[in-house]
Amino acid sequence: MAEILLGRPAADAIREDLARRIAALAEKGVTPRLAVIRLGEDPGDMAYERSIRRGCEKLGCAAESIALPADCTQEALIAQIEAVNADDSIHGCLLLRPLPKHMHSAAVCDALLPEKDLDGMGRGALGALFAGRKDAFAPCTAQACLEMLKFYGIDPAGRRAAVVGRSLVIGRPVGQLLLQADATVTLCHSRTPDLAAVCREADILIAAVGHAGLIGAEHTRPGQVILDVGVNSVDGKLCGDVRTEEAAEIAAAVSPVPGGVGAVTPAVLLAHLVEAAERRG
Ligand code: NAP
Repeated sequence: MAEILLGRPAADAIREDLARRIAALAEKGVTPRLAVIRLGEDPGDMAYERSIRRGCEKLGCAAESIALPADCTQEALIAQIEAVNADDSIHGCLLLRPLPKHMHSAAVCDALLPEKDLDGMGRGALGALFAGRKDAFAPCTAQACLEMLKFYGIDPAGRRAAVVGRSLVIGRPVGQLLLQADATVTLCHSRTPDLAAVCREADILIAAVGHAGLIGAEHTRPGQVILDVGVNSVDGKLCGDVRTEEAAEIAAAVSPVPGGVGAVTPAVLLAHLVEAAERRG
């Protein structure tokens, strides 16, 4: 039976390290400050925003919410982002997505200064990631996958990794981070032939599709580590992209949904905020 890779202990370890760094910043009179920009009143977004703010305040960081109506114009949103860029008291910003359909998401994300782009959304941050530069932030969930591997002592170096999904939010950035960690990476997508065979080749398999139960026994082999990033709702129940019980019969380790990678993402966001504050000094 596979080891179940819980996110909580990895997130706690990150927060412990941050507590020390936040105390060091406090001695210099610096309080890391986050701005969360939200459009509309989606209950899921509002709950996520509250939990992010609570997490910030618990560690001694400051957080503020900027709420705009769902039907606000793209120009108004960009003006708000430019105000965040210009505000020296704000170290980093999280823009809750997806944005309303009337907006050009990439143009909005590009408006945020890369050094404040804590979730690596804009082309500045993504360009830095793909160029292998360390002066911007990777998307938090992609980074959370690497933090999970690190916490559980799984070194990607020299291993074969398969990532299922190639979005700019998770698939491509996690592939890039694995490559930087010296894995040999295959990015899979909806046009990949014989997905199961490609996945079975992998020592590390990352499922980031958004298709409940897509990955199962046929994609798995003994010794494999599987991280399930998918977040799906089936009959009102949260589940991932992996048929966890089935995969756990074969693989060496599997992360669950809920309670896996998703539990690490907010801790990574905080880590990015603290790093942004440290860089500014
Ligand atoms: P997305 O933009 O819809 O991308 C999905 C990717 O999966 C695409 O690259 C698509 O391929 C690929 N795909 C679709 N069907 C496939 C199939 N049958 N076989 C192989 N590949 C297939 O989604 P996303 O934003 O990357 O998110 C992926 C999942 O991660 C979602 O469930 C999302 O909720 C979750 N997520 C979780 C967190 C978190 O835990 N905090 C954060 C971010 C995302 P094509 O490119 O060919 O269309």
